[in-house]
Amino acid sequence: MKSAPFNYAFLFLGLFFGSSQWLLAQNAAYARRHLDTLSSAAFHGRGYVAGGQQLAADYLLREFAQLGLQALSDNYLQPFKLEVNSFDSVYLRLNKQALVPGTDFVVHPMSGHGQAQKLKPGKGLVLAENGKQPKEMGKNPRLILETTDQKFTWSVGRDQWPLAYVEVRKKALPPKIKRADFYFSGSYKSHTVANVAGLVRGIKHPDSIIVICAHYDHLGRMGSVLFPGANDNASGTALLLDLARHYSQPQHQPDYSLLFIAFAAEEAGLVGSNYFVNHPLVPLKRISLVLNLDLMAGGSEGMMVVNGEAQSRAFQLLDSLNRANSYLKNVQKRANAANSDHYPFTQKGVPAIFVYTLGDVTAYHDPNDRSESLQWQHYHQIFGLLRSFTDQWQQP
Ligand SMILES: [Zn+2]
Repeated sequence: MKSAPFNYAFLFLGLFFGSSQWLLAQNAAYARRHLDTLSSAAFHGRGYVAGGQQLAADYLLREFAQLGLQALSDNYLQPFKLEVNSFDSVYLRLNKQALVPGTDFVVHPMSGHGQAQKLKPGKGLVLAENGKQPKEMGKNPRLILETTDQKFTWSVGRDQWPLAYVEVRKKALPPKIKRADFYFSGSYKSHTVANVAGLVRGIKHPDSIIVICAHYDHLGRMGSVLFPGANDNASGTALLLDLARHYSQPQHQPDYSLLFIAFAAEEAGLVGSNYFVNHPLVPLKRISLVLNLDLMAGGSEGMMVVNGEAQSRAFQLLDSLNRANSYLKNVQKRANAANSDHYPFTQKGVPAIFVYTLGDVTAYHDPNDRSESLQWQHYHQIFGLLRSFTDQWQQP
């Protein structure tokens, strides 16, 4: 009677370990671990508060080293500086009632810092209804309060206004605003951040390079409010690491070189990728294609290829691989746009596309872009499509 459990165990092992599904599952677990880690509170939203972006760069360079990627600069890093307006602490009270940051209000990314108490409409407090410009600023304006019924969409401020500026949800407003008190602390200063780049050398044609990139930065924190940036773009960063892991294995070493770049400061206006194209670590003319990954945690509605119209061969290859293997529902294309890190490359004449997934995820640039809310159920298909594409892009 002892053989039965053995037989069952054998079946079980055969099912799981004998199929390629098992190998694929390991990819998903590896990527998921990086997605969860990078979007955890310990990385402070990978922005400009508490050194979040620098912590993420450290994490990535350690992973690049572990995978054995070749560094093209000191410790895989390409540092640069940028000025950013940030908020360590934000507090707003209306009629003596404290509002909840991130839910009831957001401080405008370019708001001034400061504090004031007992502001009244026309006396220090300026009301801007639904984003309309206020008729008058009144005496000694200190705080502009914009009311909105739109979803909050936060960003990174590269400038600082002389006045404090806050957006408040209409639902959170008292019937009549009689008094406002605020305290916004933070800094407007220069930060040093870094792109993280590592190479897998091609066997046959090492001088021809495909760049696979994803921005790893996000919006950071607004006071106590965390912007985890799980889909945007811990997902693309995790996928980049998984592709780097795949191609750094001896049996998958590519014919052409692959340069993996995790870009910094994308959310501040494509600053890291702009810096790279003006200070390239490899000659730009050797880059046959840039494949930029951003917002990779969806997929139930397919995949979009930005600049797929101009880069028709890249689009057609993605589309035909997708149809032949039934990876995703569809692959769509649209014209070029300055909406992610592929764009500065296109401005320098380097062929570049930006792929993002469609469906599943609704949170965008808000505190709800959390790892726990992502299923990532199309991970295998997304990975499979992009791996096949990378394998075939330069084949005759
Ligand atoms: Zn993004």
